[in-house]
Amino acid sequence: MKKGYVYLVGAGPGNPKLITIKGLECIAKADVLIYDRLISAHLLNQAKPECEKIYVGKSPKAQVRTQEEINALLVEKGLAGKTVTRLKGGDPFVFGRGGEEAEALAEAGIPFEIVPGVTSAVAVPAYAGIPVTHRGLTSSFTVITGHERADKENSNIPWKNLAEAQNTLIFLMGMENLELICGKLLEHGRSAKTPVGIIEWGTYSKQRVISGELGGIASIARAKRLENPAVIVVGEVVSLREKLNWLERRPLFGQTIIVTRASHQAAGLSQAIEELGGEALEFPVIKITEPADSQLLLRAMENLDSLSWLIFTSVNGVEAFFAELGRRGKDIRELAGVKIAAIGPVTQAALTKRGLSVSFVPEEFRNEKIAEGLAGKLIPGERVLLARAQEASGLLPQALAASGADVWDVPVYRTVPGEADKDRLRDLLENKEIDGVTFTSPSTVSHFLRLLDGKKDLLSKVKLCSIGPVTSAALQEMGLPVFSEAKEYTVEGLVKAMIQGPA
Ligand code: SAH
Repeated sequence: MKKGYVYLVGAGPGNPKLITIKGLECIAKADVLIYDRLISAHLLNQAKPECEKIYVGKSPKAQVRTQEEINALLVEKGLAGKTVTRLKGGDPFVFGRGGEEAEALAEAGIPFEIVPGVTSAVAVPAYAGIPVTHRGLTSSFTVITGHERADKENSNIPWKNLAEAQNTLIFLMGMENLELICGKLLEHGRSAKTPVGIIEWGTYSKQRVISGELGGIASIARAKRLENPAVIVVGEVVSLREKLNWLERRPLFGQTIIVTRASHQAAGLSQAIEELGGEALEFPVIKITEPADSQLLLRAMENLDSLSWLIFTSVNGVEAFFAELGRRGKDIRELAGVKIAAIGPVTQAALTKRGLSVSFVPEEFRNEKIAEGLAGKLIPGERVLLARAQEASGLLPQALAASGADVWDVPVYRTVPGEADKDRLRDLLENKEIDGVTFTSPSTVSHFLRLLDGKKDLLSKVKLCSIGPVTSAALQEMGLPVFSEAKEYTVEGLVKAMIQGPA
């Protein structure tokens, strides 16, 4: 029987983007994924749908597997001919017992490969602005397990050497023994004034850092209730943090912000939030689907040559319109001679990407500005097609018709409730874990509130951020205060407004 192949992969220190390209490839091709605690759901979601996912970490709920059982599981899946990816935190060979797993595979004759990872020992200090070596301060660093009881007789840890060497000391798994670790270093002569930094949940948006001196750091850590996972760094390099602490200075650092957009559009906003140091949680409260009745759309498609103007008020409208055109085996040549208007630059970009030039974009990106701007351009009797959402309001077609144009208001898509996890959303809000919510259309407002079953008080301390005046009006109608509103009605504008706060 064909033997399988096992990849022992380091998943990095926590932030899912800190995995290697090769590590990600190994997740994508795995038949079986065997993973530890703290491996991001985002990484697990990169596996094939049919991939078998086996959790082997410790947790209060799940049964703990011994290391022998994990080794046996790897061998069993390997012998069954599977491509197995064993995902471990940080680097697999730094206190991850990856060496033991590789030994078990070697003994069973199963081919394997090690995919190194970004170790928390180096990356977590880096995220706190602490370089583990620095010219003039230290020329080496030592990574030490803090798990061994420091007072145990015949300790494997050479405390005297560590205390005297004056290099950077990095302790992993050390929080339970923090007092003992500091005590041993002091006892063997390290100065009580030595700078120490402790970084909890490094590289996550909930990262917390304390710094102090070897003599007093333990009591600070206990007062602030720092716990594992945490890295303890001892040495002069910790003092560089004052100058080099880059992450915590970011404007959205430590903030958890909900993205309510439809899932196919959420990525751009999430990424913008993360680049500013925040954590984005996607709760797609809406989904775009075909209109309930497509009669009008069919009629429009058959009469494209009769149009003078074609108006789009959203990217969704552009996508739905051209999807329908494509289904009919047609393309943009059907629109030769038709003038095109777009509500704003993002919608315009969706059109130019398709090879269409846009004749009109209002200076302010809102519906009434389209009507105002086109008023002087429309000739009475000209046919104007509005390709937009089924649920859009009647104001724009009315305003256009006032110029004497023959307005066809055609629903090309419909907004329906998305797949957001309502219970999780309520839990997060009840536990006050959410700092802000972003709204990118009136429909995101109404569908979001529906998920809360009208419990608006859950939002009393939450910053509600709106992409523009139409969305703000929808919030205000519901009696919800707008924390900030974008000046430019785009994702970039929304993110800028979140940082700047109320005007
Ligand atoms: N193989 C891993 C280390 C496993 S030991 C690696 O190379 O990173 C687990 C310990 O790593 C934790 O107790 C903690 O000390 C440290 N650790 C891992 N991820 C961390 C994080 N995001 N923030 C702080 N410490 C972390």
